[in-house]
Amino acid sequence: MPMTFLPVLNEVEKASLHERQPLPDAYLNLQDEEMALRIGAARAALGDRLVILGHHYQRDEVIRFADYTGDSFKLAGAIANHPAADYIVFCGVHFMAESADILALPHQRVILPDLAAGCSMADMAPADQLEVCWNELRQMNLASRVVPVTYINSAAEIKSLVGENGGTVCTSSNAAATLTWGWQQKEKILFLPDQHLGRNTAFKMGMPLDQMVVWDPYEPFGGLTRDQLEHAKLILWKGHCSVHVRFTTQQIAKVRAEHPGITVIVHPEVPFDVLQAADDSGSTEHILKTVRDAAPGTSWAVGTEVHLVHRLAEEVAPGKTVVSLDQFGCLCSTMFRVSPNHLLWVLDSLVDGEVVNEIVVPDEQKKWAKIALDRMLAIR
Ligand code: SF4
Repeated sequence: MPMTFLPVLNEVEKASLHERQPLPDAYLNLQDEEMALRIGAARAALGDRLVILGHHYQRDEVIRFADYTGDSFKLAGAIANHPAADYIVFCGVHFMAESADILALPHQRVILPDLAAGCSMADMAPADQLEVCWNELRQMNLASRVVPVTYINSAAEIKSLVGENGGTVCTSSNAAATLTWGWQQKEKILFLPDQHLGRNTAFKMGMPLDQMVVWDPYEPFGGLTRDQLEHAKLILWKGHCSVHVRFTTQQIAKVRAEHPGITVIVHPEVPFDVLQAADDSGSTEHILKTVRDAAPGTSWAVGTEVHLVHRLAEEVAPGKTVVSLDQFGCLCSTMFRVSPNHLLWVLDSLVDGEVVNEIVVPDEQKKWAKIALDRMLAIR
């Protein structure tokens, strides 16, 4: 069966698409088995010159070829293990490949198999809006009391601006440690782009909701008064993940009714009420470890991207039961754009000595973005 299916995108996801090179005709309508054989041959030909990184949300037909699988934090750390590799093929989305290019050695080239694999959350924080925000905080004499923290799901330019202003990058794996670090630096944290990760993490750490405000980048001064900002310890950017906000408390009630005794575990990008209604929450690595370590016979409803959930369900069956919290499954459409066809194309090109779909972060952004990412890797 041909494997060139592409999902229908909603408006937010369409907006996150980056300019896309067409896949050459020779890579359309290939059979799974043929692609698997050819990808294997290309990997063997490239040997240690190649490292393939695969994010947990990638589809099965792609992630099975990854040398490393993990969340953004784990994959960013894996790059340092391969100083001899010339090519880092990142099966993930645009901001991840940018981070890899920032952390890579000068001779290493980073490739994203499909340039259209963006992230709608990252696109909710464009650099010009952060510049306006920071200038407005300066006008209110507040910027010197604020440290900016950006989730790794953000553009290199945002990471650079954050690094230049004394801040850091975080992932869902080290978000709590990062907030602790941030409040050690300054009295207030500006957290972007995901308001839910910021709010959920801070609340879990004991911060009351009335010490958090939401900065709307489409409103002057974020739509906030000076008093509100003065009182706040955490300023949350008004952004979200279009996949994780689809989870609801109604889904939790339904799955509990259908599976008595089931444990609900969700990713912290879900809305506040959903996380409060769940039994546990954490990064994808936390979810995987918790379910893998759980007692035989337990049942789990997992609120994160559906490819990870399905793979986890297969891995722990038949001893444990894992279902998606959303019965229809929440798919990250832009992650899904990386197909085995694209992977084969970029690998064949490398074998032929041609680098296609390279991600290059401009030097002027690299310096401060790297400082911010190095701070992230040091905070655990
Ligand atoms: S799951 Fe959400 S945050 Fe992650 S890549 Fe997809 S849209 Fe971006």
